[in-house]
Amino acid sequence: MAKKKFAGARNKKAKQNARKKTPVRVSTKGQANKVLFAASEVYPLIKTGGLADVACFLPMALRDLGYDIRIVLPAYRAVLASVHDVKVYSEMLVPDTDIRYRLLETTLPDSDVPVYLVDIPALYDRPGSPYLAEDGKDWLDNAERFGLFGRVIKLISLNQAGLNWSPALLHCNDWHTGLAAALLAQESERPAIIFAIHNLAYQGIFPYTMFDSLELADKFRSSDSLEFYGNLSFIKGGLVYADKLITVSPAYAKEIMTPAYGHGLDGLLRHRSECLSGILNGVDYRLWDPRYDPMIEQHYWLNDLHGKKINKRSLQQQVGLQEDDNAVLLAHISRLSEQKGIDLILDGLAGLLQEQQVQFVVLGTGDARYEQLLQAAAGNFAGRMAVVLDYNEVLAHRIQAGADIFLMPSRYEPCGLTQLYSLRYGTIPIVRKTGGLTDTVVDTSVATLGNQTATGFQFHDATTRDFLDAAHRAITMYRSCQSCWKQIMRTAMQQEFSWETSARQYAGEYTDVISMNFT
Ligand code: ADP
Repeated sequence: MAKKKFAGARNKKAKQNARKKTPVRVSTKGQANKVLFAASEVYPLIKTGGLADVACFLPMALRDLGYDIRIVLPAYRAVLASVHDVKVYSEMLVPDTDIRYRLLETTLPDSDVPVYLVDIPALYDRPGSPYLAEDGKDWLDNAERFGLFGRVIKLISLNQAGLNWSPALLHCNDWHTGLAAALLAQESERPAIIFAIHNLAYQGIFPYTMFDSLELADKFRSSDSLEFYGNLSFIKGGLVYADKLITVSPAYAKEIMTPAYGHGLDGLLRHRSECLSGILNGVDYRLWDPRYDPMIEQHYWLNDLHGKKINKRSLQQQVGLQEDDNAVLLAHISRLSEQKGIDLILDGLAGLLQEQQVQFVVLGTGDARYEQLLQAAAGNFAGRMAVVLDYNEVLAHRIQAGADIFLMPSRYEPCGLTQLYSLRYGTIPIVRKTGGLTDTVVDTSVATLGNQTATGFQFHDATTRDFLDAAHRAITMYRSCQSCWKQIMRTAMQQEFSWETSARQYAGEYTDVISMNFT
């Protein structure tokens, strides 16, 4: 059996010390490929951000590597409306509560990855997003919703949910699954636990009274457990109790151990630094590749970059920009939040658009303040700036195919997917040197042009001045040296950030953590 024993670890200090011991490999024959993957959103069933992409494509890639990986997700109304052929397991009681749940089993569309839906209608069968009500505010009972989700994840992990399936590893994702890690870690025989951090800023913080409401034992109420500045922190469940912490880029793994990026948790993460590493997310190149993309006007590739001009013309027409082959077309797609540096773009707009033949298209929905400021700016630069306040997958593809430069001045960026798409489409990214942007974009310099590794433009500080310096460097290069630009495009387009590469690295971590034995 691939269960681990934490014998003798009676208090937290002992457990922490236990974790520091050198792992001893043990046999996990027959069980080691069974992984339960817990997430609060999974593409295409339900998506609010990059986490949903990871929770779809990573399990699929791991399945291809031979893992018996199964996903568990709350049975939100939107998910129930989109799935068919559901197998229903009998209703069970969550131990020590009067809450009943059912497990429904389906598969990820276009795959054979099983998905268990935790069906508790009172908690999940409602309109709105997984986290927010229709008024845009957090659901008031999010602690109960994801607390119960955590309890059911634990039951499945221990093969106590009637599935007759016993995973060797629980792979948790973000705060919504933090309590599962904390609860499962208390068991003397249990699977290994990996906790993945997709965005440390979101922590699942609730009033201290929720310790009572969720009937969490006293041992969880201290600052070396789930207490966080007088509150209950779900994410600490993962950060304190998982056997291994993985975040979505090597650079972000280092950053979150510093006060500037640690969101108050850098001390804990430094304490757990030996267990923390970064693995980049991947791209599904079946969906995002200018050679095959069915959503774009003209396919193109390395030796036929002219196709990009056709896409540019088509995009200019579609969004109401002047049709001008010689304009430099800048683009931005995001949730329009401060994290994405949209304020730096807004501050720098006049400086960018005062130059002749510079255009800008932005696609996004998010912070109402930024939406209004963008619309007002578009009014001042008619024909040269287009704003589409929408979530629109097709337009996102057409922008990647038609624009010349992609702006991504994020204040922090755990991994980032949009710059990975930009690279593949030869839409040269201008990025702040942070997190996954550091790891995936190579700044253009005399040296990197010379050795043909340049793929974009980086800047250091989250200031309008640094951002504009990088933008002007890029625009000048575009104008003054088309052969250099085409070289950068070709290098960018050939970068590979496939899910298979990520999955192989996760598989390595799985093997290590499953074979650890702390007794
Ligand atoms: P995050 O997860 O922080 O939002 P990522 O860059 O990791 O940022 O992932 C964002 C994902 O959402 C990408 O797939 C991007 O194309 C998509 N996206 C964001 N905003 C929009 C939008 N308005 N329309 C279409 N797709 C969008």
